[in-house]
Amino acid sequence: MQSTVAGKQSANRTDDDSDLLLSEKKQRVKSVIRVLKKLYPEAECALHHKSAFQLLVATILSAQCTDERVNQSTPELFRKFPDPAALANSSQEDVERIVRPLGFFRNKAANIRGMAQGLVDRFDGEIPQDLEQLVTLPGVGRKTASVVLGTWFGIPSGIVVDTHVRRITNLLGLTKSQNPEIIERDLMEIVPKSEWINFSHRLIHHGRQICIARRPQCTSCDLLKFCNRTGLDPLV
Ligand code: SF4
Repeated sequence: MQSTVAGKQSANRTDDDSDLLLSEKKQRVKSVIRVLKKLYPEAECALHHKSAFQLLVATILSAQCTDERVNQSTPELFRKFPDPAALANSSQEDVERIVRPLGFFRNKAANIRGMAQGLVDRFDGEIPQDLEQLVTLPGVGRKTASVVLGTWFGIPSGIVVDTHVRRITNLLGLTKSQNPEIIERDLMEIVPKSEWINFSHRLIHHGRQICIARRPQCTSCDLLKFCNRTGLDPLV
């Protein structure tokens, strides 16, 4: 999309005028959501999965790793260990071998096996649809729990803040924090609850396709007129 004059003016704003009032942030986020919905009507989680259990495993494995790499390892993992009972009965060595390419493989293998054991022991092999219960499982933090609840069960329990969401919401002037918990709190104040789940998915798509960390494609970006471009060089 071509950039507009208004867009370029906005793009040249400085950090000093990036402090929006809450009402201005709500207005801006509304516009941003409208654009994102048009750009990415089918907002989907990039981690391949066919069940809540698979999504939980894949999300734990995705820490400090790209979704693409996770998607390369999970087919074998899910074929060998299709459910919580099978993964709980696995050997650490077998699981480590499969998840080795994902980094932190010893911890990740221990976490997914411990999580599966927790499901079998305490939840009858089912994924609890409750954030407080989910975070009692090994390797499951608030972000992982929110991904599973939102993506699989359609339960908005929070807003997932990954590296793309953190970067873009700062650029858009929706938060001034780099702390995911504070960002999530800031966003929950301004994003309508009905949009919590897809807002993250869509920003993540945008971060991969347009607002790429080292080379954001601002002049092709449909969010340009809503973006402070905080910390970036002015557009010429
Ligand atoms: S590419 Fe990123 S920094 Fe550039 S206008 Fe779009 S959202 Fe803002």
